[in-house]
Amino acid sequence: MSSLLMEVRNLSKRFIVEEEWGEKLALDAVNDVSFSIFQGETLGLVGETGCGKSTLGRCILRLLEPTSGAIIMDGQDILRLPPREFKKYRRRMQIVFQDPFASLSPRKTAYAILEEPLLIHGEKNSRIRRERVQEIASRVGLEIKSLSNYPHEFSGGQRQRIGIARALILQPEFVICDEPVSALDVSIQAQILNLLSELQETMHLTYLFISHDLSVVRHISNRIAVMYMGKIVEIAEKEEIFSTPLHPYTRALLASVPIPDPKIKRERILLEGDPPSPFQPLPGCRFHTRCLLRMDMCAEITPELKVIDHGHFVACHLYGGE
Ligand code: SF4
Repeated sequence: MSSLLMEVRNLSKRFIVEEEWGEKLALDAVNDVSFSIFQGETLGLVGETGCGKSTLGRCILRLLEPTSGAIIMDGQDILRLPPREFKKYRRRMQIVFQDPFASLSPRKTAYAILEEPLLIHGEKNSRIRRERVQEIASRVGLEIKSLSNYPHEFSGGQRQRIGIARALILQPEFVICDEPVSALDVSIQAQILNLLSELQETMHLTYLFISHDLSVVRHISNRIAVMYMGKIVEIAEKEEIFSTPLHPYTRALLASVPIPDPKIKRERILLEGDPPSPFQPLPGCRFHTRCLLRMDMCAEITPELKVIDHGHFVACHLYGGE
């Protein structure tokens, strides 16, 4: 096992939403989440839209300030660092966004977009900036002569290459890829996933890869964490998640992934019921309103994420844990 890069401990993010008539409602988008990320791995974070996975990614980078919890790197809690100290860590952690068109300024050339992080982090030498921009552009497969173009002059795939180059120009260790291919055509998705894998190898990167699409996560991840309504319900090695999924929600998610071979039949598990309102979470397991295997205790006691077998963690009363 590689060395630990980051430990997320009991992280929570609560949003307070004010209704038109003045009533304030609490939404626990991320609820008491703990997991570790190891150097050089890709941890896939998967779940339905609205389950809190993007909020979790943004909390790790402090693009959103977590409500409580800790993120330990180099033995210290980076959430407690003053802004100047945190800036050093922020340089080591970057993000690739879902929609490259929305995340790139339409008024800046690709060159200016790539140069900006260097300027923000104090690189005063224009020759060094130019060399770094040209180097990262060629690493991600952009032509140097195209750098004077504006985002609308690029294709969707090329725009995502700019987004990736912008995230990597400061030579980070850790990159959060937040649905980086879901806005792209299927043929381009494979190219971008292959590019991310190549860059991971050559630049020694660690990824947290967020996606609602299990097939995409399967392609790129070493381990997979499954999220449901703000909580991680299962984490395991990729092969283990696909061969021996334990949590009833993971099993239902897997059953919904189409298999390209018509001869292979997979058990269909239809989720019954709707997810409960995120504003009024029920006690107990958050999945109990839809779970076919629920027991009486499931509506009362929240299951903890427990290790079941060598690195396989599950939050479900069906499993006792070690
Ligand atoms: Fe289903 Fe109970 Fe397990 Fe929740 S704790 S997933 S309701 S069996």
